Amino acid sequence: MKLKSIIDDLLYLVYPNLCVGCHEEAVHDEELFCINCETKLPLTDFHEIQPNEATDRMAGGFGFLRGLSMFRFYPGGMVQHMIHEIKYRGQTNIARRLGRRYGVLLKELPDFIDLHCIVPVPLHPRKLRSRGYNQSRFFAEGLADSLICFSSSNYLLRTKETSTQTSKTRYERLESMMKAFSVSDKASVLKGKHILLVDDVLTTGATLMSCAQALSLIPDIKISFATIGLAQ
Ligand SMILES: [Zn+2]
Repeated sequence: MKLKSIIDDLLYLVYPNLCVGCHEEAVHDEELFCINCETKLPLTDFHEIQPNEATDRMAGGFGFLRGLSMFRFYPGGMVQHMIHEIKYRGQTNIARRLGRRYGVLLKELPDFIDLHCIVPVPLHPRKLRSRGYNQSRFFAEGLADSLICFSSSNYLLRTKETSTQTSKTRYERLESMMKAFSVSDKASVLKGKHILLVDDVLTTGATLMSCAQALSLIPDIKISFATIGLAQ
């Protein structure tokens, strides 16, 4: 037994990694969920089906090549809790590991063979300063690890700060998100390339459609999207 694995085992006895689903069961380093939570995970099969409920939310919007959500997001459910930990409690490692796990599935899809890079939906600079990090960046980095490409926050910019969206109708959300994003000068290298846009939760689709609207200024770009959750 190597010294490192002995130390890891000792550490595990003192500080067990807890399942990110229930926070009760201890799980090994490479696992996120205990067996009980794993069987209850609201995983989707959207990687096998197109169109699906995620792409349906974009009906009449930008023509995405592929659209996917990893989980169904139920109010008060396990995925909402996980995203809360990622977004507000600095548990970015969860997002990265979810991205790695999802990337293993996506890697099998012929549509992703030519994937050039992964682009997280950006936060407005003011929001980024107050939160300290963009939660979607870590999901993007995990996906990039498994899909063997890179992720970049240098192409897409958030130029408009939007107020909280929850009380708005679908139309009001779309309207407020219009022109909320723009592309940087560096984005010209994406000409003819396939990119995967990444966000935490898909609700109405207004955010992703607004990002796609900005990116579609780049000639011959192909855009897919993936989110951690699909709001139910
Ligand atoms: Zn659990």
